[in-house]
Amino acid sequence: MTVLAYSDDFERASELARRAMERMLTEELPPNPENFTLWYAYHSGSLPDLTRAIDIALRDSGALTQSHCDELFKRFFTLDAEAQAIRETSERARSALAKILEMLNAVGTETNRYGNALAGFQGELEQPMSMGDLRAMVAAIAAETTAIVERQTRLQSQLLDSSQQLAEMRVSLDTARREAMTDGLTGIANRKAFDLTLNEASQESARENLPLTLLMVDIDHFKTFNDTHGHLVGDHVLRLVAKVLTECIKGRDTAARYGGEEFAIILPHTALDNAAKLAEQIRVTVGSRAIVNKTRNASYGTVTLSIGAAQYRAGEPLADLIRRADAALYTAKRTGRNKVCVEAE
Ligand code: GH3
Ligand code: MG
Ligand code: MG
Repeated sequence: MTVLAYSDDFERASELARRAMERMLTEELPPNPENFTLWYAYHSGSLPDLTRAIDIALRDSGALTQSHCDELFKRFFTLDAEAQAIRETSERARSALAKILEMLNAVGTETNRYGNALAGFQGELEQPMSMGDLRAMVAAIAAETTAIVERQTRLQSQLLDSSQQLAEMRVSLDTARREAMTDGLTGIANRKAFDLTLNEASQESARENLPLTLLMVDIDHFKTFNDTHGHLVGDHVLRLVAKVLTECIKGRDTAARYGGEEFAIILPHTALDNAAKLAEQIRVTVGSRAIVNKTRNASYGTVTLSIGAAQYRAGEPLADLIRRADAALYTAKRTGRNKVCVEAE
C-alpha cells in the first residue's frame, strides 16, 4: 500500500485541489473522493509511479476512463490483496486462538473440580459408612464422571471446529499469496514473484556453484501493433506470448511479466549457451504464431520478440545481472529486432 503524508500548506493544497477538480471536469470523470485523491496526487507529483502511469495512459489512449481510474486507485491507494488477506486472517486467527485458550482454561478448572470431588469421596471412604451412604456416594461419583466426560466430548468437538477454522484460514492465505504473485492479465508470475524467485535462484546458484541465466524478452514495435489493432488485441497478444513462454520452459524455470510488454525468464541450472538456444526457440515459436480472433474471423499477422540473455556472476548485485540482460536486449533492438543477443564478454 502507498501511504501518503500530505504536508502541503494551505495555499498549495488549495491550488492542487482546484487543479484536481478542474481536471476531473475536463476529463468528464465524476468528482468523487476517489477520483479527487487520484488527481490531487497526480498534480502534486508525490507518487512518481502514479504520475507516470497516468501520463502513459493519457499518451496512449488520449483520455482516462473511469475503469482506468478505479484500477489506479486500487493499485495506489488500497491495500493489496495479500496485505488485506493477512490483516483479515490474523484477526480471525486471534479470535480462534482466544476461544481455544478459553476452552483449555475451562478444562483446567473442570478437571480440578473433578479431582477435588474425587479426593472428597476418598476422604469419606476412610470413614465407616452404611450401605445406603455407600450407594449414594457411588452414584455421586458416577454422576461427576458422566458430567466431566460430557464436557470433555463437547470440548473435543469445539476444538475440532477451531482447528477446521484454522485450516480454512491457511487455505485462504495460500490463495491470497498465489494471487499476489500472479499477473492479472496473463496469469503468469508477476514482477513481485520475479524479484523473489530471482533472489532465491541467485542464492542457490552461488551456494551450489551452478549456472543461472536471465532472459529479458520484449515485444517488437508493440506500440504500433496496439495503435493499429487496438488495446484489446494487444492484450490478447500479451496472453499469447505468456502462453508460449510457459510452454517453452520447464521444471524450475520461471516466466514472468516484468512490466508492460516486457517479460523475463529465470533459468536456473542453465548456462548462457543453452539459454540462448532456448531463447531462439521462443523467438521462432512466437514469430510463427498467427494472431487471430476466431469468433470475429479476423487475422492480425504476427509479432516478433527481441531477447537479451545474461548469466549470473556469483555475488554480484541482481541489478547488475538485469542491467546486462537489458543491455543485450537493447543490442538486439538496435541491430534489427526479432533476434536473440547474449551479453558482451
Ligand atoms: P520496441 O520494438 O522498441 O520495443 O518498440 P515498442 O513499441 O514495443 O516499445 P514502446 O516501449 O515504445 O511501447 C511499448 C508499448 O506497449 C506501449 C504500450 O501501448 C504497450 N503496452 C504496455 N503494456 C500494455 C498492456 O498491458 N496492454 C497493451 N495492450 N499494451 C501495452
Ligand atoms: Mg517493445
Ligand atoms: Mg518495452
